[in-house]
Amino acid sequence: MTAAAESIVRSGHPWLFAGSVRSQSRAGKIGELAVIYDREDRFLAVGLYDPDSPIRVRVLHTGKPRAIDEDWWRDRVGQAVSNRRGLFDGRTTGFRWINGESDGWPGLVLDCYDRTLVVKLYTAVWLPRLEQTTVLLAERLRPERIILRLSRNIQAAGLERFARKDATVLQGATPEGSVIFQESGLWFEADVLRGQKTGFFLDQRENRRIVESLATDRRVLNAFSFSGGFSLYAARGGARSVADLDLSAHALAGAKRNFALNQANRAIAACRHELIQAEAFEWLGAQRGRKFDLVVLDPPSLAKRESEKAGALRAYGKLAKLGLGLLSPGGILVACSCSAHVGSEEFFGAVRQAAARSGRKSTELRTTRHAPDHPAAFAEAEYLKAIYMRF
Ligand code: SAH
Repeated sequence: MTAAAESIVRSGHPWLFAGSVRSQSRAGKIGELAVIYDREDRFLAVGLYDPDSPIRVRVLHTGKPRAIDEDWWRDRVGQAVSNRRGLFDGRTTGFRWINGESDGWPGLVLDCYDRTLVVKLYTAVWLPRLEQTTVLLAERLRPERIILRLSRNIQAAGLERFARKDATVLQGATPEGSVIFQESGLWFEADVLRGQKTGFFLDQRENRRIVESLATDRRVLNAFSFSGGFSLYAARGGARSVADLDLSAHALAGAKRNFALNQANRAIAACRHELIQAEAFEWLGAQRGRKFDLVVLDPPSLAKRESEKAGALRAYGKLAKLGLGLLSPGGILVACSCSAHVGSEEFFGAVRQAAARSGRKSTELRTTRHAPDHPAAFAEAEYLKAIYMRF
């Protein structure tokens, strides 16, 4: 391997790219263990081999040579579990147990919704190991069922030989409809078989809690609302009204059901809830005189690849400007980005610039990054950031 790749892997980065491999003892099969040697032929790391991806090896272990046996895997599950000890009480039954590379499981995500586990694979290297993985997870976490979800790139890769499809039930019974779980004491549903990601955006929990603390007596606009996560918290926090804005009728129907699930809460029952199905940029730009006192902007990733970064930054700036246009004096803007290709400072910069250009006086309240159950152990894994400003 090249010198640069050697020092990157040695420092703990989990990816070895195809272009950095100097020589290979034989052609490997997908998901096989690949041992990586340094330029002096000493053991450097061991990982999962992927002949079809530019990320040729996904590193599992670096340092001293070690057998990657069942005990080793069992220990890996145990570590992910113990890293989350004390993070959530019984009022939060939806959270992430395993966050891919950052938990030592490259390209594998494990989310929990009450007694349902959802394994989502972002690389096919796990397909030949799925049975072993399912047994291990079931042994440690004792779920009622385990669901498999596959990212689009795997679905497109023609891996029929593994006979695994998206939305397969690996263990237990197929759920009847969505799965109900709790987040911070609020009830939500997750469409674990068909929903985006694994059915819910678990990564925004901490931002939602902050929004709850800022919402008292405010008229709230939740743009890119999905199933109303931010809105439920705002309503519980005493918002006067919340408007969920999303392109997807399916997402808004979910928001409506999530409000229905929480009517036992007096503040939520008292909060006016509006659903707006529209393209967000268009809708925001078309409002004349309508005002909100708290605006949440949480668009989908606007840069799917590095080349889209500049355009994404302009779009974030535009979105912040549009959001600001609807913000009353004293109103709070919460702008989020989940684009891994856009760095947090660049994103904050775009929002701050939009704020400055508006000519309004503003106070930056805070910025936030990853949720504690979504650790980011290397730069490429950092995607979520949010900035809170009062105007
Ligand atoms: N804030 C949400 C997650 C947002 S995910 C939460 O806390 O759960 C992004 C959402 O944006 C999706 O629901 C998607 O349907 C919606 N969306 C994507 N493009 C959009 C557009 N141009 N206008 C409005 N909504 C859009």
